[in-house]
Amino acid sequence: MPEGAVIVTGANRGIGLAIAGELAASGFDLALVARDSERLDSVLAGLAGPGRFVTHAADVSDNAAVTAVVASVKEEFGAVYGLVNNAGMTRDGLLMRMRPEDWQRVLDVNLTGTFYFTRAVAPLMMRQREGRIVNISSVVGMTGNAGQANYAASKAGVIALTKSVAKELGGRNVTANVVAPGFITTDMTADLPENVKADLLKQIPLKRFGEGADVAAVVKFLLSPAAAYVTGQVLVVDGGMIA
Ligand code: NAP
Repeated sequence: MPEGAVIVTGANRGIGLAIAGELAASGFDLALVARDSERLDSVLAGLAGPGRFVTHAADVSDNAAVTAVVASVKEEFGAVYGLVNNAGMTRDGLLMRMRPEDWQRVLDVNLTGTFYFTRAVAPLMMRQREGRIVNISSVVGMTGNAGQANYAASKAGVIALTKSVAKELGGRNVTANVVAPGFITTDMTADLPENVKADLLKQIPLKRFGEGADVAAVVKFLLSPAAAYVTGQVLVVDGGMIA
């Protein structure tokens, strides 16, 4: 196992929870971040693996809180090996009706939160000449989506941010990659009307919606020695939906 913890944001449910479970079982030390600390505690209680696990309740859009989390994790584990920027949210609506605050909040959490965490870990990873950053975007960051201008723009931003980070930090052996899920069964997608889900399913060659575990397996690969020479890439995990 590499020295240092992996920070996973949005780790108390959905895809982040699956990522935490997969990485714990693989032997990583983990620092789990989300806002709801009770939910984080129950995740912590259920995690199984040989590593050490801690939780930090924080809002990823709060730069001071993010800086404090990264400083604590460095203190607790001695090093930060990996960062998985998974925390995210939607506030859907058609462009003409989208309120500026709904635009801003989604950008603040999905894109600026990813920037804050990435900037906070970058000096540590550069100094140790080792690090892995994995950012969770979405296929809609590549295709756009009616009713999700804010979300799609934030996720496209995550891709451009990641490619830039890959170029800036590559010389210090720090990789940065994107995982772009398609439709994954979580709270985020639970409220979609059945007819929309049925239409989506028709567009998926593998004929099923994804699970958190499908995304977690690819995140684990990007944190593994096998992915040492992979950087600046977007790995799409969508059952072939946008292929
Ligand atoms: P989810 O079930 O709604 O979970 C979202 C997670 O993010 C929760 O742990 C939540 O915890 C955390 N979070 C939200 N806002 C936060 C904030 N301001 N600060 C800190 N943590 C915050 O969503 P999901 O489906 O697992 O999605 C995870 C990631 O995958 C997101 O980036 C999402 O955009 C992306 N994605 C999902 C799908 C899909 O189909 N589900 C597809 C493509 C991409 P708290 O509420 O406790 O903070």
